[in-house]
Amino acid sequence: PFDVLVVGGGPAGATAAIYASRKGIRTGVVSERFGGQVLDTMAIENFSSVPYTEGPKFAAELENHVRQYDVDIMNVQNAAKLTPAATEGGLVEIELASGARLLSRSVVLATGARWRSMNVPGENEYRNKGVTYCPHCDGPLFKGKRVAVIGGGNSGVEAAIDLAGVVAHVTLIEFDSVLRADEVLQRKLRSLPNVDIVVSALTTEVLGDGSKVTGLVYTDRTTDESHTVDLDGVFVQIGLLPNTDWLSGTVDLSPRGEIVIDAHGRTSVPGVFAAGDCTTVPFKQIIVAAGAGATAALSAFDHLIRTSSP
Ligand code: FAD
Repeated sequence: PFDVLVVGGGPAGATAAIYASRKGIRTGVVSERFGGQVLDTMAIENFSSVPYTEGPKFAAELENHVRQYDVDIMNVQNAAKLTPAATEGGLVEIELASGARLLSRSVVLATGARWRSMNVPGENEYRNKGVTYCPHCDGPLFKGKRVAVIGGGNSGVEAAIDLAGVVAHVTLIEFDSVLRADEVLQRKLRSLPNVDIVVSALTTEVLGDGSKVTGLVYTDRTTDESHTVDLDGVFVQIGLLPNTDWLSGTVDLSPRGEIVIDAHGRTSVPGVFAAGDCTTVPFKQIIVAAGAGATAALSAFDHLIRTSSP
């Protein structure tokens, strides 16, 4: 069996594997796609000590770093089921979609998340060419430009407030007839001079000139009329879906499906830890996920030294 089995090969899982293997214990990583969301990212400018890099390069360096150590990397493998240890300090089982079963004295779950998309024409075509899902990452790219934020929940309204300080103008578009964000955020949003709020609006298309976004079309659901807004960027903030479906019923999940962790990265199941975007961690960023991966691995190590027989 493994001492630490990591599920997920994004920034959180890779960092957990590095930390675990440096303790000289048997470490494995199961991942569907090593690198994770970073593979879909263009410029990364907010990982301290690396002023600029690109997603695929960052992912390759993550993998290189893990390969410096004696880590068993099982790539293109999907974890399908977790069975908690039968006794304290016993073995946790991870069953793969292939049917293979892996046993480990501790597990770090780092399966990440995916952004919910609008599924409208132009969205995929202009992804990273004006369509983006991450205001913390891409806000500065739209300095002095006009953007839309799709979604009037907390994340959409927070994004609009954040972006209003950077870009020339923000149009916030909400499907419902009211914003769902906390009242204090809505008040702040309404006080900003360069923000328009459009409710009861269904986004129907992202427009572009072939190389970048030029606008957005929405239907006013009260009149059924179609409107076009000219802009350079569209920030989609309609939800982040954690990759945790396979864990429901075993590990405690929040109402949003995030794995509930404490400050040590512990889950509700003894010997099972979690890190990164699949958890209740409040911020979904590479450096935050990497840090959480280190925390989870060190907590797993702590669990091992407390539960192993002398
Ligand atoms: P992920 O990166 O999502 O990795 C999850 C891993 O788990 C993957 O290897 C996946 O294949 C694997 N996996 C999932 N389910 C299973 C399963 N059942 N079995 C086995 N393996 C599984 N953050 C920044 O800090 N700066 C940026 O500039 C930035 N730009 C971004 C741009 C885009 C387009 C996107 C989508 C995100 C961006 N982010 C950025 C956010 C950042 O990518 C994430 O916060 C970070 O990747 C989270 O790391 P993670 O390891 O928790 O999860």
